[in-house]
Amino acid sequence: MPDLPTARPRIAALPAYSRAAGAGSVRWRASSNESTVPPSPAVVQAVARVGAQAHLYPTLAGDDLVEAIATRLGTSPDQVVVGGGSLAVLQLALTAYTGPGTEVVHAWRSYEAYPILIGIADAQPVPVPLDGEFRHDVEAMLAAVTERTSAVLVCDPNNPTGTTLPPQRLGELVAGVPSNVLVLLDQAYCEFDEQDPLDVAALVAEHPNVVVFRTFSKAYGLAGLRAGYAVGSAEVVAPVRNSAPPFGLSAAAEAAALAAWADAAHTAEIVATVTASREAFRGGLAERGLHTPDARGNFVWLPVGERATELERLCVRHGVSVRAFAGEGVRVTVGDPDAEAAVLAAVEDLLG
Ligand SMILES: *Cc1c(COP(=O)(O)O)cnc(C)c1O
Repeated sequence: MPDLPTARPRIAALPAYSRAAGAGSVRWRASSNESTVPPSPAVVQAVARVGAQAHLYPTLAGDDLVEAIATRLGTSPDQVVVGGGSLAVLQLALTAYTGPGTEVVHAWRSYEAYPILIGIADAQPVPVPLDGEFRHDVEAMLAAVTERTSAVLVCDPNNPTGTTLPPQRLGELVAGVPSNVLVLLDQAYCEFDEQDPLDVAALVAEHPNVVVFRTFSKAYGLAGLRAGYAVGSAEVVAPVRNSAPPFGLSAAAEAAALAAWADAAHTAEIVATVTASREAFRGGLAERGLHTPDARGNFVWLPVGERATELERLCVRHGVSVRAFAGEGVRVTVGDPDAEAAVLAAVEDLLG
């Protein structure tokens, strides 16, 4: 064998994203927090229209979508960066601001992508355990900030536990982070939290070190098209934009996101479907003796501890894929009462 090029050791050692058991064969997918409601008909039409123009490049940096987002959020366009999913934009931010010799503080258990993205940036993840109510532990996270910290990553609502920080606690966290350290606030599920009053424009005006990440994958039903965005102060987001490849947002994704953004009634329907399902499902779990933390996303956390993989197997047997975290719990995407009935049947099998 000739010598082959070697990847950076950190990259070669990265864990792969996990796949849920049975996700390809089950009747219901409740394992990836996809919308159970298809996208707006306006999205389907918009994608068909741009399909006929597929030989042309899209706008350089999703300019039309940037404009639409900035107008609604009350920021200037130079405060908004769009990309092929909010994770892609988060990776750009980590690339621009973290790296070798720096640390990124984040809660754990939280989104499994975080340690991977931090590893790609060659920074050091500093996981901080959630508190007893499956929430970010504000004091412990602040205590983990050192002079090596380049960023604090906050997931609110937290994937996979569904919890949020009350606005005052989030305020304490943001205020406690030094102004030269980034706060990356991942709000992939904020549309499902009716109690979330966060004014992004005001937050980033008061705290220019905060960047908020949101996505079209969940409440807009566009997971397959890949579109997300970040909002921050113009100074802080400019290097994030500079880190992006040109034409990073496809014409199809941009057209779809614009159509979904404009169809507020459809987003409201997705949110209403999810929240009704979520509360009925949590009620059904409680009736069976399984109490779940307050859930603000399009999913519910079942804290079954050592029995997580056992419950996952039972769910697959009942025709529904879920996301198990061995030794901790199971995350179930909501929005389809039939799928939730199947999970409830699996929970009955588990608890006997
Ligand atoms: C689903 C999800 C995202 C969105 O990722 P996209 O790349 O926009 O599809 C981001 N953060 C969290 C915590 C998520 O669960």
